[in-house]
Amino acid sequence: MHARRIAVAALSATLVLAPLAGCGANGNKQEATQQQETQQQGTEQKQAAINYMVLVNKQHKLPDGWEEALDLVEEKSLLYEDPVRVERKAYEAYKALKEDLAKEGVNVELDSCYRSVAHQQEVVDEFTKEKGADYVKQYVAVPGYSEHHTGLALDLFLVIDGKQVYENDEMLKHPEVWEKVHAKLADHGFILRYLEGKDDITGYAYEPWHIRYIDSPEIAHKIMDQGLTFEEYLGEADEAKAANAADKAANATTTDYEVDYGTSSIYTKDDIDAAVKVVMAEFGSWDGCTMQKIAFTDDNTCKSNVEYANSLRKDGTAEFTQAMVLVSDFRSPSADKAQGTAWEPDTDYKDYTWTLGRSDGGEWQLLTWGYA
Ligand SMILES: [Zn+2]
Repeated sequence: MHARRIAVAALSATLVLAPLAGCGANGNKQEATQQQETQQQGTEQKQAAINYMVLVNKQHKLPDGWEEALDLVEEKSLLYEDPVRVERKAYEAYKALKEDLAKEGVNVELDSCYRSVAHQQEVVDEFTKEKGADYVKQYVAVPGYSEHHTGLALDLFLVIDGKQVYENDEMLKHPEVWEKVHAKLADHGFILRYLEGKDDITGYAYEPWHIRYIDSPEIAHKIMDQGLTFEEYLGEADEAKAANAADKAANATTTDYEVDYGTSSIYTKDDIDAAVKVVMAEFGSWDGCTMQKIAFTDDNTCKSNVEYANSLRKDGTAEFTQAMVLVSDFRSPSADKAQGTAWEPDTDYKDYTWTLGRSDGGEWQLLTWGYA
């Protein structure tokens, strides 16, 4: 998400910022105390409305009313013209974390933290104009579905030997520094959100800089000590995995793999595309495998498989009147990712078969796949 730095900085200059909380300079002591008390109560009320364990990801939207309930504090940004904004308790915890790390010679600073839904919409609009809708779909969070809306997500950057290190690829070159940062997170109620090798669950590649405040050091330790994603801790991992795989498949364009439509007098291109989409929804969950080509077989093969398709039909579902047989070429993952899977690493699999069935007016159902 750091890739958005320049555009975000440019855009944020156009945003209207909420006025800073705080007392006027000329109030007497009593007034100031009253004001402080009112402010304190306001803060407590607002904090009570915030669920620090909230899950916001590609499937879970920011709860309604959240932005109104959010109590933000500001800090002058070292990178942008506008200040950084963070939820009040999360900010206090961050200060303690920063101090703790400084004792070990590690210097962290705040990059991007709170972003409003409206701001995210501006980012989407700006990028759509510049780079097109496909780019936006792939790289920019949908407004309402970014964890940064919560005010509880913080992107850190490093200061190493007095030099600011904030570019993604530069930051990734310092794993030993991040290790020290991550070791201290739980003590202060933070967790690491986008873990290495768990992008199928989180929907995001590894981001050592993106931390999330959950307000409970005890729970944070449970999560961090076991190396869990937040989704796994909340029992949402399976749902997230399935949804991310389906998303990935839906966003995969034909430029990623070739579709050979062959010739058919039964099926249109749309019929075949619909079947390919169902196949790719399954294939998308095959971690590390790359689809190269999907080909329609032929009308006779499809016709002769209707009976077989019905033999695989679930009880109580409508009879299939059509079958489709597709064959695909794909490449298995490299050795590290193939470990523990059924795949030989780095191997081309050819003519792998997929059989689907469809009832009158129904959708394609994927019934079986493999080598016949
Ligand atoms: Zn982030």
